[in-house]
Amino acid sequence: MTKLEVLRKYFGHNAFREGQEQLIDSILDGRDVLGVMPTGAGKSACFQIPAMLLGGTTIVISPLISLMRDQVDALVQNGIPAACINSTQDSTSSYEVFCRAAAGEYKLLYVAPERLETEGFARLCSSLTIPLVAVDEAHCVSHWGQDFRPSYLKISGFVSSLNERPVTAAFTATATEYVKHDIVEMLSLNDPFTITTGFDRPNLYFEVRKPEDKDSELLKILRGGTGGSAIVYCATRKNVESVCAMLNRNGFKAGQYHAGFDAEQRQAAQDDFLFDRMDVMVATNAFGMGIDKSNVSLVVHYNMPKDIESYYQEAGRAGRDGGDARCIMLYSYADVELAKFMISVSHDDAVRTQKEIEELEERDRIRLRKMQGYVGTSGCLRAYILRYFGENAAARCTNCGNCTGDMETVDVTVDAQKILSCIFRLKQRNRAVGKALLCKILTGSKEKRILDEGYDTLSTYGIMRGMPSVRVRDIITFLEGEGYFEVCGDYSICVLTPKADEFIKSKRAITMLVPKKAAVSFSAIHEAAKNDDSHQNPELFDKLRETRKNLAASLGVPPYVVFSDAVLWSLCARLPKNNDELLRIPGIGTFKAERYGRKFLGIINDFLKEH
Ligand code: ADP
Repeated sequence: MTKLEVLRKYFGHNAFREGQEQLIDSILDGRDVLGVMPTGAGKSACFQIPAMLLGGTTIVISPLISLMRDQVDALVQNGIPAACINSTQDSTSSYEVFCRAAAGEYKLLYVAPERLETEGFARLCSSLTIPLVAVDEAHCVSHWGQDFRPSYLKISGFVSSLNERPVTAAFTATATEYVKHDIVEMLSLNDPFTITTGFDRPNLYFEVRKPEDKDSELLKILRGGTGGSAIVYCATRKNVESVCAMLNRNGFKAGQYHAGFDAEQRQAAQDDFLFDRMDVMVATNAFGMGIDKSNVSLVVHYNMPKDIESYYQEAGRAGRDGGDARCIMLYSYADVELAKFMISVSHDDAVRTQKEIEELEERDRIRLRKMQGYVGTSGCLRAYILRYFGENAAARCTNCGNCTGDMETVDVTVDAQKILSCIFRLKQRNRAVGKALLCKILTGSKEKRILDEGYDTLSTYGIMRGMPSVRVRDIITFLEGEGYFEVCGDYSICVLTPKADEFIKSKRAITMLVPKKAAVSFSAIHEAAKNDDSHQNPELFDKLRETRKNLAASLGVPPYVVFSDAVLWSLCARLPKNNDELLRIPGIGTFKAERYGRKFLGIINDFLKEH
């Protein structure tokens, strides 16, 4: 069989996506690889297809049990012999997996890195032919990554301990140079073929909102329809609890997940979400890496995360099936303070020296400023993210809040002059303030602190009186994002940059995008999306979804493992009448067609008769 035949027969896809073919070819040629591809790009096929074509058993090292289970379920559903060994299995089932593995029955065997050190596993491996070791979420090997796992450092020793050194293939969605370099070093990759594919996720719509009341804004967004499952990320456990309670009071089936849960509670919450028993998962960033659920169509950030890396990773859990999905951030200035606090406590551990802690905190503060730039920019949000990751991007996309028609351009030249000259006047008095105080001075606050410091005698005191503080703060954040001033030092004071000087001298105009007063609501956009090709016959979709849910429950797997939402929508649009037509649907291979085809064709047939 060729690699394309495997892709068609077992995965039901007709063509390779960017990067897949080169990675697969390199592995088949016996060369180590490093694949850096965004979430949802199809990294797993890059090692699963070679595993099918090479003799023996491929070992896949994966950091989380949920992730392993998900992939193994999906493989088994596609007719590929695969299993995982993990700590939650009882002795009977792990004995069975060991026996079948020893008999060479599996093409892929998933394990957590901790397993590599155990004697039983080492013995098993010494009796197996292992052509390939695939390391998923390889950034876990790097101290610079977000999810460092010390046990990942054992992988290279494990690989060299095997009878014959297998090809090592590493995959990650984290692109920074530091992390890439660490992966190659720490995993001892041998002259790896490395590919970094585009980070753009065109199906994701990005938007930032700055609502007065986040709860009612969140309800408005959710009532606009999620079209699938939704995740709401909050920065703290307290927020998770209150937002989840608020949603349940308002009639949503919401569940929660945070680091305060024990393993059992986590598992239960995660399963409820994966098996579609709840609509909305409210969670801290503890809910994450293992979430491969393909039909998440909305990710709302109730608080601004502390860096773009986290934001893109979390938002990227939407739209993995390639369908339209939305990523909306609800911003307020308090989020910045919260993020700063989190940075100040996150590196304090016994292992690091004071110097290392300071370096990491400074790195985090720089990242936070970039995150604030995202919130404040009036340019394309997608372009902002892509440029952050070092990619070229068009100045405008057609799928973010700043590029669609919800926004209007307003001239803020005079406001910018007032704000920047206030910073300048303060500097003339050898004073500097943070953004919150700056806003108060500009709006003429009578707070004691302002009067005590004599800020009311500045010529710029109160020159923006009459404009709501929220709006003034928005313009301040925007100017920071555009680089007219920077926030520096422990006290986060505002310091003008050369760009501000140049603006004052040149007197050119500054424009900013703001939501239109009578903005087209997002639900209108959502409705429009429903009318396009990909969302035809929604009543049939509901029936197919119900069937999928029942089928999945009887098989004990999450519904999207049977078919993704994108596959169901394709069935609704193309209405296949027989097996051949069914096989033309992207995502349906021979195995699934044989297994589920009759049932789904039957429902489509009934639907056609009724209509
Ligand atoms: P990643 O691990 O990169 O986040 P996955 O391997 O989970 O992504 O794949 C994401 C989705 O893309 C899955 O639903 C998978 O079936 C699909 N996919 C993978 N390769 C292809 C392909 N060549 N054509 C179409 N869909 C694909």
